[in-house]
Amino acid sequence: MTPSSLAVRQDRLEPGDKSQPRLNDADTIAKEIVEKLTYSIGKTTGAARLHDWLEATTLVVRDRIIDNWFNSTIETRRSQAKRVCYLSMEFLIGRLLRDAISNLGLTDPIREALARYDVELDLVELLEPDAALGNGGLGRLAACFMESMASTGVPGYGYGIRYVHGFFRQEIVDSAQVELPETWLKHGNPWEFERRESSYEIGFGGKVTSIEENGRTRFVWRPAERVLAVAYDTPAVGWRGNHVNTLRLWSAQSLDPILLDAFNAGDHIGALLESNKAEAITRVLYPADSHQAGQELRLRQEFFFSSASLQDIIRHHLAQYDDLTNLADKVAIQLNDTHPAVSVAELMRLLVDVHGMEWDAAWTITRATFSYTNHTLLPEALETWPIHLFERLLPRQMQIIYQINAGVLREATQGQGFDDRTISAISLIDEGNGRRVRMGQLAFVGSHAVNGVSALHTELMKQTVFHDLHRLYPSRIENKTNGVTPRRWLHQANPGLSKLLDETIGPGFRDNIEEIAKLDAHADDAAFQERFAAVKRENKERLATLVQERLAITLDPGAMFDIQVKRIHEYKRQLLNILETVALYEQIRSLPHLDWTPRVKIFAGKAAPSYVQAKEIIHLAGDVARVVNSDPTVRGLLKVVFIPNYNVSLAEIIMPAADLSEQISTAGLEASGTGNMKFALNGALTIGTLDGANVEMLEHIGEDNIFIFGLKADEVARMRAEGHGGQAVINSQPLLRSAIDSISAGVFSQGDPGRYANLMNSIRDRDWWMIAADFRAYWDKQRQLDVLWKDRGAWNRVAARNTARMSWFSSDRSIREYARDIWKAGPGAR
Ligand SMILES: *Cc1c(COP(=O)(O)O)cnc(C)c1O
Repeated sequence: MTPSSLAVRQDRLEPGDKSQPRLNDADTIAKEIVEKLTYSIGKTTGAARLHDWLEATTLVVRDRIIDNWFNSTIETRRSQAKRVCYLSMEFLIGRLLRDAISNLGLTDPIREALARYDVELDLVELLEPDAALGNGGLGRLAACFMESMASTGVPGYGYGIRYVHGFFRQEIVDSAQVELPETWLKHGNPWEFERRESSYEIGFGGKVTSIEENGRTRFVWRPAERVLAVAYDTPAVGWRGNHVNTLRLWSAQSLDPILLDAFNAGDHIGALLESNKAEAITRVLYPADSHQAGQELRLRQEFFFSSASLQDIIRHHLAQYDDLTNLADKVAIQLNDTHPAVSVAELMRLLVDVHGMEWDAAWTITRATFSYTNHTLLPEALETWPIHLFERLLPRQMQIIYQINAGVLREATQGQGFDDRTISAISLIDEGNGRRVRMGQLAFVGSHAVNGVSALHTELMKQTVFHDLHRLYPSRIENKTNGVTPRRWLHQANPGLSKLLDETIGPGFRDNIEEIAKLDAHADDAAFQERFAAVKRENKERLATLVQERLAITLDPGAMFDIQVKRIHEYKRQLLNILETVALYEQIRSLPHLDWTPRVKIFAGKAAPSYVQAKEIIHLAGDVARVVNSDPTVRGLLKVVFIPNYNVSLAEIIMPAADLSEQISTAGLEASGTGNMKFALNGALTIGTLDGANVEMLEHIGEDNIFIFGLKADEVARMRAEGHGGQAVINSQPLLRSAIDSISAGVFSQGDPGRYANLMNSIRDRDWWMIAADFRAYWDKQRQLDVLWKDRGAWNRVAARNTARMSWFSSDRSIREYARDIWKAGPGAR
């Protein structure tokens, strides 16, 4: 390399200047990568290791994103477009490099540029840490929504927390889950930009005083503690790089990094206590999914990121409009679940106490600005906080909540004449359980729109959790069924299928996912079916290689890959799947002459560390796997694997490799599911209950192409009310009884009969999750699938139809609906 070829180009783009687009050929990119390697990383091409190439490549891609980022920001400001602020405690984003490269259309030139130095892009991509700032479906939805907002041109701002340690790393030791810390920031993060100018003070505790001002009482909150929230921005690139949004994550810092007096007096630990306490707020993600975390630090996290985001939104708005009365016209704030619900009280405080607005005007603006997404009906997941804790930590916000509550209850009694029972159901304060603040009620009353995430879930919301608030505000609840981004979950995760689609229906589906419907016309074509199956086979080989490398278990890619990957939770019923596996194992052993369909049962997922039953389920899966896989009489007809550390990157390999997708939750309990969508989009058949978005998948895919079994939501509710127990069903089901008896006898637990006593007794006694009740229907449906598998053409036709009919489940469709119905923002609104 000559010095001149390494020289930094002088003709860098000015923001907004599109007259000199960057060149994207392999020559230019190779030159730029070497430039970054040399001057940003300080390595020669000879000395560079794979992680250096990763950083250099990321920086080159980042430059291209930044050009478009500036353009998007400038355009939003110029057009005075409405901004959508998506407040979410979790963003399960995964790796970003491949997504960015693919959305910018740079895959080929970058691959070629790196190859010149004998560096493989695929290996470089694998080195990027998986950003796991979320637990599961809720956090992944936020990530898909960020991508879809950018791809559909909605000016979107994600607001969340920059956890130092994301979701824990799971190892499996002797079949049991072990949790290890996750350290995604260890080597820095080239995607983020610290914004020191965007930092805000966040208070906790202290006192509220009032002062009289122009005949009006003004409340002043004097917090006892203050911490600083500092912004870190990550660009979110949309399809073709046309629009780039911002993910702004908050990091907590102490105002005084060290108490020098204490340090100099010899108290070296005490000198750092305050700073440690402040920074603890954004240190770790709570690994709680679908149940309440409940500790004080969690409430601190929630208020911390809510307050920082609102202060930022207000400052931004005032800088442009110098007027808060039009806030709701220019900003929509979406609350992703109740975790940011305290925002309702905090925005009121900022408007009334800090900016001097009248209460009623502020309340009108607040409700017009916020909307709220509910994600669960599980009672154990509904967020409430003890009043004494809330009051101690957030005294002014507590007062405001009382005042909001008074207004709502007045409306209910005077306006509607509701009785006492209804009033106490609507109240923001739960008087029954030692007095607690109900975050769901707060989010509901503070929003102009409240949505569920699938048609069934929204209906059940109206009947159950928000039954009485729905009567008070009958037009507030609406449905917005979840979706997944086809860029990550089809184009990037399944390049083989994408290429086949290019060749079969043309590349138009990449810009408009609705075009995959054209595939339907090819589903009956035997030649196409074979090509479709060949892609699936390759993807299964890739997964089999991963399992071989990580677990030293050999899988036959010719067997049916029957996969259940998701958080481990009783309502998701991994236990039902394991019991069917045990029953199948016993049948294969006792009836070896039958023509069994070879199956590989694949499980993955994390259990919350404190969730005993979920951990027992993981343990049982591993125990069953060990016995089945080492039994020669099974002759490879059944294999069981539990793949550790389920995360987005693993999902990207698993989804395209599935023949059968397990979506078998107890009906009425899965709000939507999005794993179900990723699988079907990639041509897996679904065995599932009528729950969450499975109901709408049935409508789109057609009943011949999806395999629905079991009790419906209303039947589950009725049986629970009637006190259903499992024992009678078990007695009438020899296969189920034998499976439960074997597990109870210690057949899978090395002779230890006690290991699964609780798990098995819970089915015998209460069968709360309807495992015994649904077993027979599940078993029969599985055997129906065994038969279909033998007719390869028929199976492949159904698989192709699944891909063809999934376009409606794109998160672009979800985002367009939110933008049109709730936010009144985005390209259509201008
Ligand atoms: C999609 C996804 C989920 C959600 O899966 P469900 O089956 O809908 O519960 C959870 N975790 C990861 C890593 C995902 O990619």
